Amino acid sequence: MEDLKQKITALKKEKNTVILAHYYQDPEIQEIADYVGDSLGLSQEAEKTDADIILFAGVHFMAETAKLLNPQKKVILPDLKAGCSLADSCPPDAFKEFTKAHSDHIVITYVNCSAEIKAMSDLVCTSSNAEKIVNSVPENVPVIFAPDKNLGNYINSKTGRKMVLWDGSCIVHEAFSIDKLRTLYKEHPDTVIITHPESEAHILKTASYIGSTAGMINYVKQSAKQKFIVATEAGILFKMQQEVPDKALIPAPSVEDNTCACSECAYMKLNTLQKVYDCLVNESPEITVSEEVAKKALIPIKRMLKLSK
Ligand code: SF4
Repeated sequence: MEDLKQKITALKKEKNTVILAHYYQDPEIQEIADYVGDSLGLSQEAEKTDADIILFAGVHFMAETAKLLNPQKKVILPDLKAGCSLADSCPPDAFKEFTKAHSDHIVITYVNCSAEIKAMSDLVCTSSNAEKIVNSVPENVPVIFAPDKNLGNYINSKTGRKMVLWDGSCIVHEAFSIDKLRTLYKEHPDTVIITHPESEAHILKTASYIGSTAGMINYVKQSAKQKFIVATEAGILFKMQQEVPDKALIPAPSVEDNTCACSECAYMKLNTLQKVYDCLVNESPEITVSEEVAKKALIPIKRMLKLSK
């Protein structure tokens, strides 16, 4: 593995490539990345990079967003099958009908969706800025929020809005068991529960902190507490533990026995160090977006980035 890491490091320099990795990637991929972050941070990095190639160690919609933001760059993804259950839960044809049925509504979409869905949106958001983006729309303007109903419900509860929600969700964040979480908390009453807003409402109710992956890491760093139960994709624990080596981090339990790795995103884990290397050697698979879709999809993403500054 060390040999492979060295080869990747040398080759990315030779090919003027930047490796952007999501927090949910395996530790060995995070270690060779130039930047590790959440969706918002990764988009901002993709937009400003002057590298010739962006190797995106994440899932398809993230690499697609990087291509939209920096279309002159070659964007490559180690495994084209690295999709997302949440993005898949919002097919373009059905969503088009949904928006037609609410034609007077502004459409806000969570970044976890395809470029076609973004092209039908007025604004895009991430979990870091969802509340801010929704609040940028005047209160009297009705809003559709898609595709994540859990994040939409959470933002409705925070803002007092009644956004119309698309019925989509993430399989990883819906795998947590409330009963097992309560039992775990009773065994460790000195812990603090933190979670991502893609989790279901009953999990959110138990949490002392709800936020994006980057927000959760910052919270744990700044907190005076020593033990945390973390309810999001398990890959975040690697970066979090690096930031707080003396604190105890316990992954939240899944409905199934945790040995089935339900709290790991199977799509994210399709990327391996070997595939990163192969992808860099072959400069493939490459992400492409049609010009027509790209033109429309870029507008709501740019609006989001402007509002996030
Ligand atoms: S964790 Fe869920 S939302 Fe994130 S990429 Fe995996 S399936 Fe999609």
